[in-house]
Amino acid sequence: MAGSIGLQLCSAVEEREERALVPVPREFQSRALIKSREQYEEMYKQSIQDPSRFWGKIASQFYWHRMWDTSKPVFRSNFDIRQGPIFNEWFKGGFTNICYNALDKHVNEGRGEQVAMLWEGNDVGHEMRLTYSDVLQKTCQLANYLRKRGVKKGDRVCIYMPMVPELPIAMLACARIGAIHSVIFGGFSAESLAGRILDCKSDVLLSCSAVQRGAKVLNLKVIVDEALQLCLEKESFQPGTVLIYDNKNAVPRSKVKWVAGRDLWWQDEVRSCSTVAPVEWMEAEDPLFLLYTSGSTGKPKGVLHTIGGYMVYAATSFEYVFDYQPGDIFWCTADCGWITGHTYICYGPLLNGATQVVFEGVPTYPSPSRWWEIIEKYKVSIFYTAPTAIRSLEALGDKHVTKHNLSSLRVLGTVGEAINAKAWHWYHRVVGQGRCPIVDTWWQTETGGIMITPLPGAWSLKPGSATLPFFGVQPVVLDQDGKEQDGPCSGYLCIKGAWPGMARTLYGDHKRFAETYFTTWPGLYVTGDGCQREANGYITLTGRVDDVVNVSGHRISIGEVESALTSHKLCAETAAVAFDHDVKGQGIYAFVTLVEGAKPSEQLKNEIKAAVRKEIGSFAVPDVIQWAPGLPKTRSGKIMRRILRKIAANQFDELGDVSSLADPAVVEQLVEGKRGGA
Ligand code: ATP
Ligand code: MG
Repeated sequence: MAGSIGLQLCSAVEEREERALVPVPREFQSRALIKSREQYEEMYKQSIQDPSRFWGKIASQFYWHRMWDTSKPVFRSNFDIRQGPIFNEWFKGGFTNICYNALDKHVNEGRGEQVAMLWEGNDVGHEMRLTYSDVLQKTCQLANYLRKRGVKKGDRVCIYMPMVPELPIAMLACARIGAIHSVIFGGFSAESLAGRILDCKSDVLLSCSAVQRGAKVLNLKVIVDEALQLCLEKESFQPGTVLIYDNKNAVPRSKVKWVAGRDLWWQDEVRSCSTVAPVEWMEAEDPLFLLYTSGSTGKPKGVLHTIGGYMVYAATSFEYVFDYQPGDIFWCTADCGWITGHTYICYGPLLNGATQVVFEGVPTYPSPSRWWEIIEKYKVSIFYTAPTAIRSLEALGDKHVTKHNLSSLRVLGTVGEAINAKAWHWYHRVVGQGRCPIVDTWWQTETGGIMITPLPGAWSLKPGSATLPFFGVQPVVLDQDGKEQDGPCSGYLCIKGAWPGMARTLYGDHKRFAETYFTTWPGLYVTGDGCQREANGYITLTGRVDDVVNVSGHRISIGEVESALTSHKLCAETAAVAFDHDVKGQGIYAFVTLVEGAKPSEQLKNEIKAAVRKEIGSFAVPDVIQWAPGLPKTRSGKIMRRILRKIAANQFDELGDVSSLADPAVVEQLVEGKRGGA
């Protein structure tokens, strides 16, 4: 008996420690851009009380071909459908160009020789350094080529490419001439690609012959051919220009199937174009890009962002959230196919004149230490990645990390999902060597940039908590009835008031935009995520609002259950969902992936359940645990719980839109597992 009480006390202490505040190291704080919560509060207050002054001052540091009307407030918006259509406009009347601000401005100010991109290919030894002048010249050449093909302001250009430098360059070239880019992650199927081409009737497709991902070669051109065939069959539509980047490293030109008269080789066509291209001056509210959400909760939404507000928000959030200072080497491991790659690879770093690593490959090829090798090689100082990657690398063991010299690292970041305490501590201790603050950044495709986040030098971190709102962002927490709550609480996370980086509409469907984000509680932007707020103002995301289970009257957040499950040392990754339960109303069904080498057993299931009992309480213990060799994820690495809900409920025929699923085979395995009682 005594022993078990001792054990309980011990685990309570452990749990408190897991979530205890982690202060900012003094050394870091003294050199940070924002050094204290007071300094932040002061700026934050100004950003809310006087947005015209706050954002106007920041925006005026960019080049404007014509200033916005400074006699008027910097923005106008309506979030209340009862008052009329939803809209949000920033820097109206101003003319600028985001490509000019990301490239020409630095070159014109004498920073042309600074490295913009340190490109590291899939294979060790494939690498390239591109200065700001290099990127500008390549961008101009492509811009000129697109113009030659008749592309003009407002035209849509689909980009389906791997992480070669030409991907961000293609985005910048579109921005330069005022075309709207729609980047489609280079792992999507022909069906998804065709759907996205047809959605915006893009007259140009920029793509690539093939890409190497680890040891595998993915023939993108084959998928392109199939997608274009589908476009013809479905809507008799074909883009007028299909430009294919010749990725010789992945596949020789001779092996690429070619449609004469339609397909064009990028290198052949673009090489002869001039390296100087005039800029199209764009109104601040002209569209910049459209991009589809990850599709975690349903059919992906085509989010549209405009130029002025997005530019200012991307650059400002990059600078403060990562404490970016000249000399830093930044590395964001996302793909440009996602919003993270748009804002924190293509635009944010370049607008700040930063040097960044761009990586084509995967974290574990040719060895499990590839990422850490790259950090050591380029002396990366700011590293931004996703919890799913952290968990999978953690499961491979510390030795791959610790054999590398990671002393250049200063700031670590995560995005995409909540990070569980165990993974947070591993990232902090093993990767950051206890020295680097972790910015757990909450945001969405729709928000354009980071919304809730620590500023790394300004306040103590709390593992798993995104902490406080960025400048200009006013989060509110609503209860069940939509009433705004004060002080410590939990509920629905909404945003009051406009911020510059916010999406303006869903492409071609403003009605769906208004319905999705502004109908439930008129006057507010509804994020769809739940959160908890503490007395100190810290906000911790608790998952999608649909991901709440009601077990015998207890409302339990799925995120919390998953965090408790993963606290067991043999759990690599977990996903929990609710299912109908005769007695309790709802029960919890958990899918668990074990770390390498761990053997599944009934005893282990009991131990894992015990971990949940210890962390949360017996009411949150899953009714069922199913072993999962893998979890269904979107191609951006997020778990699709909606599919797991269907599996748990035996509704195998109702899996819904699976177009953004990374590996459909995983679903079959889980369905089989469910049928066989795994
Ligand atoms: P869809 O809207 O199509 O369902 P999605 O919401 O997964 O897809 P994204 O815009 O890529 O598409 O993801 C935004 C969501 O990711 C947020 O709403 C939130 O649920 C989750 N998220 C992002 N960052 C964090 C974070 N730091 N902590 C917790 N959740 C996060
Ligand atoms: Mg979403």
